[in-house]
Amino acid sequence: MLHYRLFKEINDLFASGRDEQARRLLMEVQSRSIALHDEVNLLQTRLKTLEEAMRLSCNLFRRNGLYWLKAQDINLGPFCPHCYDHEGGLIRLERSKGTLHCPYCHTVITPPTHFEGASDDTPRARIIPFAN
Ligand SMILES: [Zn+2]
Repeated sequence: MLHYRLFKEINDLFASGRDEQARRLLMEVQSRSIALHDEVNLLQTRLKTLEEAMRLSCNLFRRNGLYWLKAQDINLGPFCPHCYDHEGGLIRLERSKGTLHCPYCHTVITPPTHFEGASDDTPRARIIPFAN
Protein backbone atom coordinates (compact mmCIF):
# COMPACT_ATOMS: atom_id res chain seq x y z
CA MET A 1 0.00 0.00 0.00
CA LEU A 2 1.30 3.38 -0.95
CA HIS A 3 1.46 5.77 2.00
CA TYR A 4 0.68 9.29 0.88
CA ARG A 5 2.23 10.75 4.02
CA LEU A 6 5.58 9.75 2.50
CA PHE A 7 5.20 12.39 -0.23
CA LYS A 8 4.86 15.10 2.41
CA GLU A 9 7.79 13.65 4.32
CA ILE A 10 9.94 13.66 1.16
CA ASN A 11 8.95 17.24 0.44
CA ASP A 12 9.83 18.26 4.00
CA LEU A 13 13.23 16.52 3.76
CA PHE A 14 14.09 18.30 0.48
CA ALA A 15 12.87 21.61 1.93
CA SER A 16 15.13 21.20 4.97
CA GLY A 17 18.17 20.32 2.83
CA ARG A 18 18.36 16.62 3.77
CA ASP A 19 18.50 15.52 0.14
CA GLU A 20 20.10 12.09 0.71
CA GLN A 21 17.35 11.04 3.16
CA ALA A 22 14.74 12.38 0.75
CA ARG A 23 16.24 10.36 -2.13
CA ARG A 24 16.24 7.15 -0.05
CA LEU A 25 12.60 7.70 0.85
CA LEU A 26 11.83 8.46 -2.80
CA MET A 27 13.41 5.12 -3.80
CA GLU A 28 11.24 3.37 -1.22
CA VAL A 29 8.13 4.98 -2.71
CA GLN A 30 9.27 3.90 -6.18
CA SER A 31 9.73 0.31 -4.98
CA ARG A 32 6.27 0.27 -3.39
CA SER A 33 4.78 1.73 -6.57
CA ILE A 34 6.32 -1.02 -8.69
CA ALA A 35 5.02 -3.70 -6.30
CA LEU A 36 1.57 -2.11 -6.43
CA HIS A 37 1.66 -2.07 -10.24
CA ASP A 38 2.56 -5.78 -10.27
CA GLU A 39 -0.31 -6.54 -7.90
CA VAL A 40 -2.76 -4.61 -10.13
CA ASN A 41 -1.58 -6.60 -13.17
CA LEU A 42 -2.05 -9.87 -11.29
CA LEU A 43 -5.54 -8.87 -10.15
CA GLN A 44 -6.51 -7.79 -13.69
CA THR A 45 -5.41 -11.19 -15.00
CA ARG A 46 -7.41 -13.00 -12.31
CA LEU A 47 -10.47 -10.84 -13.04
CA LYS A 48 -10.24 -11.57 -16.77
CA THR A 49 -9.96 -15.31 -16.04
CA LEU A 50 -13.00 -15.18 -13.77
CA GLU A 51 -15.00 -13.19 -16.35
CA GLU A 52 -14.17 -15.78 -19.01
CA ALA A 53 -15.16 -18.64 -16.67
CA MET A 54 -18.43 -16.82 -15.87
CA ARG A 55 -19.19 -16.25 -19.56
CA LEU A 56 -18.40 -19.90 -20.26
CA SER A 57 -20.67 -21.19 -17.48
CA CYS A 58 -23.53 -18.98 -18.74
CA ASN A 59 -23.28 -20.54 -22.21
CA LEU A 60 -22.66 -24.11 -21.11
CA PHE A 61 -25.60 -26.48 -20.82
CA ARG A 62 -26.15 -30.17 -20.28
CA ARG A 63 -28.34 -32.29 -22.53
CA ASN A 64 -28.62 -36.08 -22.47
CA GLY A 65 -25.76 -36.23 -19.96
CA LEU A 66 -23.34 -34.37 -22.25
CA TYR A 67 -22.11 -30.80 -22.12
CA TRP A 68 -22.65 -28.36 -24.97
CA LEU A 69 -21.49 -24.82 -25.44
CA LYS A 70 -23.84 -22.28 -27.01
CA ALA A 71 -21.85 -20.03 -29.31
CA GLN A 72 -23.90 -17.49 -31.28
CA ASP A 73 -26.42 -19.66 -33.17
CA ILE A 74 -24.70 -23.02 -32.96
CA ASN A 75 -24.04 -25.54 -30.22
CA LEU A 76 -20.46 -26.69 -29.90
CA GLY A 77 -19.66 -30.09 -28.49
CA PRO A 78 -20.42 -32.50 -27.07
CA PHE A 79 -17.89 -32.20 -24.26
CA CYS A 80 -16.88 -34.89 -21.80
CA PRO A 81 -19.09 -34.80 -18.67
CA HIS A 82 -16.46 -36.61 -16.58
CA CYS A 83 -13.69 -34.10 -17.38
CA TYR A 84 -15.93 -31.08 -16.83
CA ASP A 85 -17.49 -32.37 -13.59
CA HIS A 86 -14.17 -33.40 -12.05
CA GLU A 87 -11.61 -30.95 -13.43
CA GLY A 88 -13.60 -28.19 -15.11
CA GLY A 89 -12.00 -29.07 -18.44
CA LEU A 90 -13.92 -28.82 -21.69
CA ILE A 91 -12.70 -31.79 -23.71
CA ARG A 92 -14.54 -32.39 -26.96
CA LEU A 93 -15.70 -35.97 -27.37
CA GLU A 94 -14.62 -37.79 -30.51
CA ARG A 95 -17.07 -39.92 -32.46
CA SER A 96 -16.04 -43.44 -33.30
CA LYS A 97 -18.16 -46.39 -34.45
CA GLY A 98 -21.38 -45.24 -32.80
CA THR A 99 -19.78 -44.17 -29.53
CA LEU A 100 -18.27 -41.04 -28.12
CA HIS A 101 -14.75 -41.21 -26.75
CA CYS A 102 -12.87 -38.71 -24.57
CA PRO A 103 -9.27 -38.34 -25.76
CA TYR A 104 -8.23 -37.13 -22.30
CA CYS A 105 -9.86 -39.45 -19.71
CA HIS A 106 -10.76 -42.20 -22.22
CA THR A 107 -14.39 -42.35 -21.08
CA VAL A 108 -16.55 -44.10 -23.67
CA ILE A 109 -20.17 -42.99 -23.94
CA THR A 110 -22.91 -44.55 -26.00
CA PRO A 111 -25.04 -41.64 -27.19
CA PRO A 112 -28.84 -41.91 -27.12
CA THR A 113 -30.52 -42.88 -30.39
CA HIS A 114 -31.89 -39.35 -30.95
CA PHE A 115 -28.43 -37.85 -30.41
CA GLU A 116 -27.84 -34.88 -32.70
CA GLY A 117 -24.99 -35.40 -35.15
CA ALA A 118 -24.45 -39.02 -34.08
CA SER A 119 -23.61 -40.19 -37.55
CA ASP A 120 -19.95 -41.10 -38.11
CA ASP A 121 -20.07 -40.15 -41.75
CA THR A 122 -20.79 -36.49 -41.02
CA PRO A 123 -17.89 -34.52 -42.51
CA ARG A 124 -15.97 -32.73 -39.76
CA ALA A 125 -13.98 -30.36 -41.87
CA ARG A 126 -13.72 -29.29 -45.44
CA ILE A 127 -10.42 -30.33 -46.98
CA ILE A 128 -8.91 -27.71 -49.21
CA PRO A 129 -6.21 -29.11 -51.50
CA PHE A 130 -2.94 -27.26 -51.95
CA ALA A 131 -2.60 -25.26 -55.12
CA ASN A 132 -0.29 -26.75 -57.74
ZN1 LIG B 1 -12.95 -36.86 -20.34
